[in-house]
Amino acid sequence: MSVLDTDIQFIKGVGETRKKYFEKLGISTLRDLIMNFPRGYEDRRTMKRVSELQFGEMCCVSATVAAPARTSHIRKGLDITKCVAVDETGRLNLTFFNQSFISRALTVGESYVFYGRVGGKIGAPELQNPVIEREDLPPAYTRRVVPIYRMTAGLSQKIMSNAVRQGLLKCGDELPEQLPESVVERWRLARTRFAYENIHFPRDIESLELARRRLIFEELFVLFCTLSLMRSRQQEKPGTRIAPPDMSPFWSALPFAPTGAQRRAVEDILRDLSGARPMSRLIQGDVGSGKTAVAAAAAYAVIKNGHQAAFMAPTEILAEQHYKTLSGLLAPLGVNVDLLTGGLGAKAKREAQQRLRSGETGLVIGTHALLSDSVEFSDLALIIADEQHRFGVQQRAALSDKGDTPHVLVMSATPIPRTLQLIIYGDLDVSVMDELPPGRQVIDTFQVGEDMRRRIYNFIRRLVGEGRQVFIVCPAVEETEEQPDGLKSVKEYAAELSQNVFPDLKVALVHGKMKPKEKNEVMESFAAGETDILVATTVIEVGVDVPNAALMVVENADRFGLSQLHQLRGRVGRGEHKSYCVLFRGAGGDAAMERLRAFCKTNDGFKIAEEDLRLRGPGDFFGSRQSGLPDMRIAGLTTDLELMRTAKEAAQELLRADPDLSSPDNAILKESVLRVLEKNRGTLN
Ligand code: ADP
Ligand code: MG
Repeated sequence: MSVLDTDIQFIKGVGETRKKYFEKLGISTLRDLIMNFPRGYEDRRTMKRVSELQFGEMCCVSATVAAPARTSHIRKGLDITKCVAVDETGRLNLTFFNQSFISRALTVGESYVFYGRVGGKIGAPELQNPVIEREDLPPAYTRRVVPIYRMTAGLSQKIMSNAVRQGLLKCGDELPEQLPESVVERWRLARTRFAYENIHFPRDIESLELARRRLIFEELFVLFCTLSLMRSRQQEKPGTRIAPPDMSPFWSALPFAPTGAQRRAVEDILRDLSGARPMSRLIQGDVGSGKTAVAAAAAYAVIKNGHQAAFMAPTEILAEQHYKTLSGLLAPLGVNVDLLTGGLGAKAKREAQQRLRSGETGLVIGTHALLSDSVEFSDLALIIADEQHRFGVQQRAALSDKGDTPHVLVMSATPIPRTLQLIIYGDLDVSVMDELPPGRQVIDTFQVGEDMRRRIYNFIRRLVGEGRQVFIVCPAVEETEEQPDGLKSVKEYAAELSQNVFPDLKVALVHGKMKPKEKNEVMESFAAGETDILVATTVIEVGVDVPNAALMVVENADRFGLSQLHQLRGRVGRGEHKSYCVLFRGAGGDAAMERLRAFCKTNDGFKIAEEDLRLRGPGDFFGSRQSGLPDMRIAGLTTDLELMRTAKEAAQELLRADPDLSSPDNAILKESVLRVLEKNRGTLN
């Protein structure tokens, strides 16, 4: 066993009681600890003398304690400890809240370095709750760049960085090494020891950059190798070969002429289906690009060859919507289309299952209910998953098991820059549908400040008066450290709207913490036109079709990624009515305004995704937990694309020479690859 597998509780400064807090952060071994990279850094290198202190700045001051610290008890739960320190230029007041133990830590006549934000009055500067460090000890928390880690109650930055320090000592020379020596040399990467020390406790900014480059490279490199290996493994399994049928009846049954992009996607699919290995294809098309018709074509081809297809939708509403569209299109072509959702009565469900088992049903559309054990197919050859972000790979796999390595088609409406596709979708082949059907209306988009709120409310009222419906989206309900009552605020906001702003209109609320059934009811009643205004968190992102909705209002739009905003905007403009999107800027400042301005100017999802990538880095794409992406420790934060390309090139080069990593030189790499596979078993495609 490697020292890296040491249980976290045996690290000095952790112990049994703190162990559980570390585990909350996903840290249970020494390896986890030192691979828990900081989420940011604070540059505490600025040293000032007392007379130079500027109100509001963050800096270090070296000063000598002049008088004993005094604590006064102000009221229950509030103790204030005050102390005075001096240097040759002046007096510095130190104030601590509820930290009476400080008085023992500060000795009169001793010099300390204090770090904090300067407050107080002119001529009487003050630091509140400063970080304290003895001047004669080597800098750890002051006078240097310090790491900032993800936190949880029960731990502090100091506890964490101290544990990491101890951890690095304990590792000795056994730091996690994943790269073969040849790769480190070939790509001129920093050494592991240097990288780990500087990613946590950077000597300076340059060292931090080198450390980061090494670790990001390493992570991506291992990931690329993993994906490549997975792919070659999959190619070994045979699929059901589907001979391309005559598609002309299908094309003539479509109520519209297909776009070039739709035709190309269908060609890609037919080619895959007739190949020797099962298809794994992602159709990536902007909202409204017509992915449903492409899915229908795939199902048609498979069914005309005598097999079955299953279409998985993330919600009942979507399943029903697809059922209507697809049975309307395919039934006249002799395809039996069926619906199977949890909402079906027991008898109806049994009958639908019977039709599936007997092979009578060609295409079944459903929700998670399709995964149930009682669902059996006679000959399942194609799985279609809509809106891949809501479907775990495990679920897709569970459905796959109901057939004999069926072909898989995944459809996603989140445009992802091509540069990131490989990383995110792993081994899927991708067809991009970058063309909208002709005559699509442009959704007029505006970004506004608070001063426009009244006018926007009037606008809402006017649209509702004309019979339209309105979405109002608030940032996700997530109870975080900074926002402990996110849910409360959305509820309060909805209540405020319905009671005070629009007492005469029907306002409903839907959020992610609701039970699926409740959620469905609210969505359905909105889709049926029974509510005028739907206040929602981002749960509505997924493709619900409400053609009568003509306005999307987004609160605190600065908190959303542009691609996410684009998804939201795609919820309107789905019918014949002129549609609008209004973004309340929120408190995001100039940078946010800049971003939103770019967004208002274009309706092209791919352009927006590229812009998002340029402005925010790939972090957002990796960052979203829900999306079934591989778990990245560092590459998400600030990866530059150049580095990504380099890592990919490096991985390809190595795999060309040693395709299954069997060379002894690559043994450690192979071990890491296996670890990534294991760790991401549910998420990698
Ligand atoms: P999405 O890609 O978002 O799933 P849909 O498949 O739901 O898009 O299609 C959006 C709308 O566009 C539907 O009403 C569909 O009938 C229509 N549509 C799809 N393809 C075309 C086309 N080639 N020409 C005209 N309308 C189309
Ligand atoms: Mg769709």
